[in-house]
Amino acid sequence: MAEVVLDKVAKRFGDVVAVREIDLRIAHDEFVVIVGPSGCGKSTTLRMIAGLEEITSGTIRIGGRTVNDLAPRQRNIAMVFQNYALYPHMSVRDNLAFGLTLARRPKEEIEERVREAAEILGLVDLIERRPGQLSGGERQRVAMGRAIVRQPEVFLFDEPLSNLDAKLRNQMRTEIKRLHQKVRTTVVYVTHDQVEAMTLADRIVIMRDGGIEQLGPPHEVFHQPANVFVAQFIGSPPMNLLDAAVTDGSRGPVLRAGEDLCLPLPRRLHGRVEAGREVRVGLRADAIVPRGHGLPPEERHGFRSRVHIADPLGSETFLFIDLGPHEVVSKMLNPRPVREGEQVTCDIDLGRLLLFDRASGRAIR
Ligand code: ATP
Repeated sequence: MAEVVLDKVAKRFGDVVAVREIDLRIAHDEFVVIVGPSGCGKSTTLRMIAGLEEITSGTIRIGGRTVNDLAPRQRNIAMVFQNYALYPHMSVRDNLAFGLTLARRPKEEIEERVREAAEILGLVDLIERRPGQLSGGERQRVAMGRAIVRQPEVFLFDEPLSNLDAKLRNQMRTEIKRLHQKVRTTVVYVTHDQVEAMTLADRIVIMRDGGIEQLGPPHEVFHQPANVFVAQFIGSPPMNLLDAAVTDGSRGPVLRAGEDLCLPLPRRLHGRVEAGREVRVGLRADAIVPRGHGLPPEERHGFRSRVHIADPLGSETFLFIDLGPHEVVSKMLNPRPVREGEQVTCDIDLGRLLLFDRASGRAIR
């Protein structure tokens, strides 16, 4: 059993604070993805768990053991990087066996473990080839195989798919998921790709400026982002955000943005915000429903608008339309062809409208 626990772990490089006292508890078997923009401290966090980077303060425990002072090879972890650095002159078999041979494991054991890894990863037919005779995805599988044969308690992945083209990335993502189903170990996976984070993770850690902004299962960080940063980072296209103020309307509290836009405050938020409060309204594209192209929302606000741009993607079309003074993007399910310039009627699903404090960016619930 290998739980990974970070207790107030921090890292400074001289004056640069790369990671600021983060707490993180990753359960045995759990797949945790650390995501965030460039420079937010994700690789440093992973490298500290691996033992490739000394920690400035705090404690890291793996499987109940404090590992602060242990070398990487004593930590029972295996790491897969984006540049998978296979030995070009060795066959797949020898690449897989290399670490075990170096550790002087018995020949039968090496053969057994290599066979097992090759089976899990579908490398059996490629076992005699050299890396130069493999596709990018196959090489990545060999890199994962090298990690598997070591039977680590924890897998650490640092942007393993970022060198692959989009199609292969999707395939490998599914393979990594399958792999985790077969080899139930703890996984910590770093990426800047929110789609990878959403699809792979049991829980997502969203980092910014060396700190953790939110930690939760994909559906939670998507539907209940803790703040504007998370709301914009997770989800594609990014969430529509509109500056507005809470005011008292004749039929109850409303959200007003300029002269043109006045939305009823959703019922669940009554009593949560006072009149005069400056807020940002968050609406995912699929919370703005072209009428007839999705379930009619229970609590809704209808409006008509002109389509500036229509982006058809096959099973859905994104429409760029005006909402008061703002341009927003709306998602049309079961789409019909839409002409640019056409007028459409949409409903805002008020049940899915999110509110954030304008000054702090924090969610108001
Ligand atoms: P990316 O997605 O670009 O790889 P990241 O989120 O993984 O970014 P880190 O590599 O962890 O970010 O870096 C976090 C911060 O620490 C950055 O500001 C970076 O410049 C700084 N940093 C990282 N390594 C060093 C180092 N060896 N010396 C000085 N500063 C460093």
